[in-house]
Amino acid sequence: MTFERRITRQLHVGSVPVGGGAPVSVQSMTTTKTADVDGTLAQVYALAAAGADIVRITCNDVDAAQGLAEIIPRSPVPIIADIHYQYRLALAALEAGVHGLRLNPGNIRREEHIKAVAMEAKDRGVPIRIGVNAGSLDKDLLEKYGAPVPEALVESALWEANLLEEVGFTDIKISVKHSNVPQMIQSYRLLSERTNYPLHLGVTEAGPPPTGLIKSVAGIATLLNEGIGDTIRFSLTADPVEEARAGRQLLEFLGLRERKGLDLIACPSCGRAEVDVIKVATEAQRLLEQENLPIQVAVMGCVVNGPGEAREADIGIASGRGRGHLFIKGQVVRVVPEDEMVEALLEEARKLVEEGVEARLAAADANAAAIAEAERLQLVEIKGDANRAAERRARVAEIAEGS
Ligand code: SF4
Repeated sequence: MTFERRITRQLHVGSVPVGGGAPVSVQSMTTTKTADVDGTLAQVYALAAAGADIVRITCNDVDAAQGLAEIIPRSPVPIIADIHYQYRLALAALEAGVHGLRLNPGNIRREEHIKAVAMEAKDRGVPIRIGVNAGSLDKDLLEKYGAPVPEALVESALWEANLLEEVGFTDIKISVKHSNVPQMIQSYRLLSERTNYPLHLGVTEAGPPPTGLIKSVAGIATLLNEGIGDTIRFSLTADPVEEARAGRQLLEFLGLRERKGLDLIACPSCGRAEVDVIKVATEAQRLLEQENLPIQVAVMGCVVNGPGEAREADIGIASGRGRGHLFIKGQVVRVVPEDEMVEALLEEARKLVEEGVEARLAAADANAAAIAEAERLQLVEIKGDANRAAERRARVAEIAEGS
C-alpha cells in the first residue's frame, strides 16, 4: 500500500528528478568547512552511503565557493549550495558548477540581486530552492503578522517565487520550515494549496535524537501521508550521517522507496523472555547493518510466540531454554546454542540474500522443526501459556455449542 501523492512540476537537481511523480528524495547537509575539500568530500560520500540522494553544502565565503569548484566534480551525488545574505556567492557557486541553489528570502532582499541570480541559474539550467525558515523570516512579514505563522511563511515563499517568475525562472522548489511541528504541517498544507512547485519538507532545528527524530517524523510523515512533499531532510543536531539514514529509513518504512537496507524488528520483551532481547537485538543490528542486507530480520525473546508473531519477517531468531531457533518466513530451519545465535543469524541472512527463500528452506535441518516444537511445548508446560489459548478455545467452543 502506498500513499497517493500530489503531482507537482518536475525539475532536476543534477541527475535526481524532483517532483512530478519522481521518488521522494533524501537530502542532508555537510557540517565541515567547505574550504576543507577532502574533509567535505569524505562526508558527502558518507552521506550518500547512508541514503542521501542530494547533499547541501554551505557557500558562505570565497574560500567555500572555491572549495565547491573542487568538490563538485568529485561528488557521487548532486550538490546544492546554501546561500545566505551575499548574492554574489550564489553567482560564484553557479560558476563552481553546483546542481542547485538554496536561497533564503529572509536574508537576500534586493530584487535586482535575486533576479540576477535567477537569470544566471536559468542560463545554466540550475534549479533554486526558496528556503523560508521561521527563525529568519523577513522583518516586514514578521511585523505584519506579529509572529512566523504559516500565512507569513507562505507569503514570503510566494513573494520570492513571483520575483523568479518575473525573469522567466520556474525551476523552483520551496520549503517553509518551522521548528514547531503543527505550524510546520500547516505551513506546507497551505503552500501546497497555493502552488504546484515541488516541496522540500523539514522540521527546522529539530534538535538531537531521539527528540529531533520524533519531531521530524511527526511533521514529515504526516505530510507525506497526505501526498505532500517531494524531497525531505531531517535537521538533527547529530552526525549528519544519522539524518541521511533516518530520512532514507522513513521513506522505506512508508513504502515510498524500495528497501535498500536492513529492517530489524524485535519484540519489546516481557516476563516470558528467555534472553536479554535488547542486548541480542542491538548486537544483531550492529552486525547486520555492516552487511547492509536488504531484508527484514526479527529478534524475538521467546520461542513460545516469537516465530509465529514474526512469520512475515524474511528471517529471525527466537530464544528458548539456552537455545536459539532460527526461522525463515516463520519456519524453523536450525536450532543452535544461545551464545551462537547472533552469529548463526548473520550467516543464514547472508545465504538467504544470495540464494533466496526457497533454496534456504530446502536446505533446512531436517529435524529442526520437530526439535523446535518439542522445546516450545516444554516451555509452555513450564511457564504456562500466557495467552491461555487452549483454555480460551475450549470455553469458546462450549459457548458456541451451548453447553
Ligand atoms: S516474543 Fe515472547 S518475549 Fe517477546 S514480547 Fe512476545 S511473549 Fe514476550
